[in-house]
Amino acid sequence: MRQATVYIDSEALQYNLNRVKQLAPTAKIVSMVKANAYGHGVKDCLAALGSTDAFGVACLEEALEIRALGFQQPITLIEGIFSLDEMPIVLDNQLELMIHHQQQLDWLRLYKDQYIQKGLKVWVKLNSGMNRLGFKVSDIIDVIQSLKADGFQCVLAMHFANADVDHHPLNELQKQQFLQVKEACSPILASCCNSAAIFKWPELNFDFVRPGIMLYGASPFADQSAHDLDIRPVMTFTAEIIALNHIQAGESVGYGSTFISEQEMDIAIVSIGYGDGYPRAYLTQNYVSIHGQATPVIGRVAMDMIAIDVTGLNAPIGTVVELWGKHRLVDDVATANGTIGYELLCRMTGRPKRKKI
Ligand SMILES: *Cc1c(COP(=O)(O)O)cnc(C)c1O
Repeated sequence: MRQATVYIDSEALQYNLNRVKQLAPTAKIVSMVKANAYGHGVKDCLAALGSTDAFGVACLEEALEIRALGFQQPITLIEGIFSLDEMPIVLDNQLELMIHHQQQLDWLRLYKDQYIQKGLKVWVKLNSGMNRLGFKVSDIIDVIQSLKADGFQCVLAMHFANADVDHHPLNELQKQQFLQVKEACSPILASCCNSAAIFKWPELNFDFVRPGIMLYGASPFADQSAHDLDIRPVMTFTAEIIALNHIQAGESVGYGSTFISEQEMDIAIVSIGYGDGYPRAYLTQNYVSIHGQATPVIGRVAMDMIAIDVTGLNAPIGTVVELWGKHRLVDDVATANGTIGYELLCRMTGRPKRKKI
């Protein structure tokens, strides 16, 4: 059988959740499990995240999947609802809305009594300069005051555009605006930290932190690895060697014959490709790991196969190759491919087998 497997390490997930608890001991944890738990599979991840205070997802369908699995924690829809007909389902399933524009406010008000009766909080998003979602600082205070006057329990929410960058000027501006609104609307619950901000600004943890990538053991920072941050990779992605070729100097490998050997070498073909979610676009030398040994990927990545240089290695057919995981970090594969770990994880396909360990 073709071996392409994604292992999900529940203990690593629990470990990383505990890291959040250590870093933000007084905040409640809203574990971000959008995009199928960053490609890890909600089903396999939720049990390990059982002790989280709440979940965050991008849309109703993702929230309903969590409810269908029997989890009762609060769930925040971080982009709110997209149409009014979602509102009854939101109420039936005890979901909390993040509100980012006037129309959503109007929709919420139509269901005011039921929403408040169910004890659901309204998350109100501040646009402090990222310019994706949210009310501007000049409008949000009125929005929150009127929601509070109506009896809603509000959480002031904000997202940093550059939490992963030291000394970015927008960071200070965003912080200042957030604190200004928080002060003007006091008392109010507050939440502005994603993974990078949890590591960097403990003073901004407030009532709720919203970790995503760190739970999965990948780094939000370009210059700090998962090991540096003491978080553990949750996903291990493996395949097997299915063929071996001995080639002479001057021979090429794979589509486009982009790789031409300079000397005799042993190459192995591994049963993995972009059809599984392994990236094709590498910019700099990429590696896989065989028993912890970094082994170069050579030639183009195809839909179902890659070639690696196994010269001098004892790597017979059937040898397990780690594409990313504990030895070859997903962030390093991402860097070699001009992207970030988030993207590689989220674009995993359903093709590899999944196993929970
Ligand atoms: C995805 C998301 C997060 C988590 O971000 P990470 O960088 O993965 O920690 C937090 N807050 C919001 C609003 C998000 O959309």
